[in-house]
Amino acid sequence: MSDVYDVIVIGAGIAGLSAAVYTSRQGLRTLVISKDIGGQLSLTDEIQNYPGFLSIGGLELVRKVEQQARTFGAELVFDEVVKLDKDSDGLFVISTASGDEYKSIAVILAFGKTPRDLGVPGEQELKGKGVSYCTICDAALYKGQDVALVSWGEPAYEAAEILMGVVNRFYWVFPGSKPVPDDEFMGMVINSGKAVLLPNHEVLEIRGKGRVESVVVRDRVSKEVKEIPVKAVFIEIGYVAKTDFVKHLVKLNEKGEIIIDEYGRTSTEGLFAAGDVCVTPYKQAIIAAAQGVIAALTAYSYVMSKKGKEARVTADWRKINIPGREEGKRKGLKISI
Ligand SMILES: Cc1cc2nc3c(=O)[nH]c(=O)nc-3n(C[C@H](O)[C@H](O)[C@H](O)COP(=O)(O)OP(=O)(O)OC[C@H]3O[C@@H](n4cnc5c(N)ncnc54)[C@H](O)[C@@H]3O)c2cc1C
Repeated sequence: MSDVYDVIVIGAGIAGLSAAVYTSRQGLRTLVISKDIGGQLSLTDEIQNYPGFLSIGGLELVRKVEQQARTFGAELVFDEVVKLDKDSDGLFVISTASGDEYKSIAVILAFGKTPRDLGVPGEQELKGKGVSYCTICDAALYKGQDVALVSWGEPAYEAAEILMGVVNRFYWVFPGSKPVPDDEFMGMVINSGKAVLLPNHEVLEIRGKGRVESVVVRDRVSKEVKEIPVKAVFIEIGYVAKTDFVKHLVKLNEKGEIIIDEYGRTSTEGLFAAGDVCVTPYKQAIIAAAQGVIAALTAYSYVMSKKGKEARVTADWRKINIPGREEGKRKGLKISI
């Protein structure tokens, strides 16, 4: 088999996997490269607004789409894409963090949003070793211990609430006089006796040999610097589109989000995008999934045209044979796809 894929999808969130369902079902050789399965949806236990499901776990939903994509032949590798270029033959060349290289005719960018970094020394080295961007996922690991929370605004409510119920004490670092505007909520936090508030503070460094041991903070008013022993630092300051590695190929808005047209096309031929990484007013799962489908169908037309075949997609209602389905039906089994 040629080592050139028809389509490579970057990101296995709901957008990328929905795209892969369509490209693979259209018969395109499809590879999905992703750091993980599920993306942001894997952070939520319950989704109540995805049509067709009154209530479903985020990861459970994405796993269903993954199963569907794999059933139609999509391949999946876990890696981080660090470089994307077009070679002299017009093929896309993708390089990953583990040093592998992949080629394809078309690429769908569906790498969503990633937690915003603080950008301080020690942060990258101690990621996953006490530095966490997901309080809901990791707080339980630090039951009864002292930790730091760096957060303000909307994401801070949930993070603080979770820590109050789990840790011994959390040092709450934030830039202004209050981390959140809700005084009632702040009253609850103070009454819990769990929080040490550090208003007008910033993090200078996260320290530790192999694991987080302390955080160095500075009072922005008095300039006093202190080192606080903690086992973990929770950073919850929102999500950003980390589009640096594609900015030479696509147009971005001021937030670094990829600008696409109604067909999911970016400013480079053969390069499509979908989901939260794009300029989309509402960042929701169903919208990301639908954009994945739009990008997939346009990518299908593009790949076909590159192969000199019929290139127009109008609709996709045909039924295809799913291996094992007919046999399963005969045996009275419930077939989920
Ligand atoms: C806590 C939380 C709760 C939510 N609840 C709801 C809800 O109830 N209903 C709803 O509709 N929406 C909800 N959302 C929003 C929804 O999760 C997003 O709109 C949706 O996940 C976007 O999907 P996506 O595929 O575009 O991106 P993402 O979910 O961000 O997935 C992107 C994928 O790309 C991967 N990736 C990133 N960079 C790279 C790279 N360089 N190389 C390889 N892979 C990469 C990531 O690891 C990830 O797997 C919630 C979001 C959060 C954070």
